[in-house]
Amino acid sequence: MFRETFDDKKRRARKILRILKKTYTEPGEFVHWTTPLELVVGTLLSAQCTDKRVNIVTKSLFKKYRTPKAYASASLDELEAAISSVTYFRSKARYIQGLGRMILRDFGGTVPSTLEDLVKLPGIGYKSAHLVMSKVHAQHTGIAVDTHVKRVAPRLGLTRQKDPGKIGADLEALYPRADFLSVNEYLIMHGRAICAPRNPKCNECPVRSLCPYGRVSRA
Ligand code: SF4
Repeated sequence: MFRETFDDKKRRARKILRILKKTYTEPGEFVHWTTPLELVVGTLLSAQCTDKRVNIVTKSLFKKYRTPKAYASASLDELEAAISSVTYFRSKARYIQGLGRMILRDFGGTVPSTLEDLVKLPGIGYKSAHLVMSKVHAQHTGIAVDTHVKRVAPRLGLTRQKDPGKIGADLEALYPRADFLSVNEYLIMHGRAICAPRNPKCNECPVRSLCPYGRVSRA
């Protein structure tokens, strides 16, 4: 295990991000969106599902449902059929119908623009809300911790926490706000490409010398 001060860890964390930015020069596959409503719905659908699958589904979904009212007035059967190939499609259909209704009833038909209000929407937690705040409003309220970030950040020795909220808080202490979205996206890209759940390819990893797990791994 590395022995390091908090400042050393900060420097190491930032160096890791710089290297990952140089490594992954192509944009990764993330949820496609053109409006705040599309981002909210796409992010909701992406829970426990791949962004690739979500992007296939939303291609037709977003053409058919363009407004909160369209989701609010759709039947659950109809919404379930439209998203049936994503995981947990029944609960997600309920969420998007409820989300459309809440936006109409409580937010005047407009997707809310504060973290506090976003997390009131059905199916939207802090992870999704931070992404919406960063991507739509350029306000970096926190680091979204998905399954890749949850796995890669502890391997890199950037946190010892297991709870996503606590992992996010540890990472937020290491990076400037302007990097919050990048930390999420580059750890995801690294998790998809090299730092896989099983058998991470440490021998191909560009940040191995900075990674406690990689230093002792035989891979
Ligand atoms: S060295 Fe291995 S464990 Fe560490 S980040 Fe790279 S792939 Fe993941």
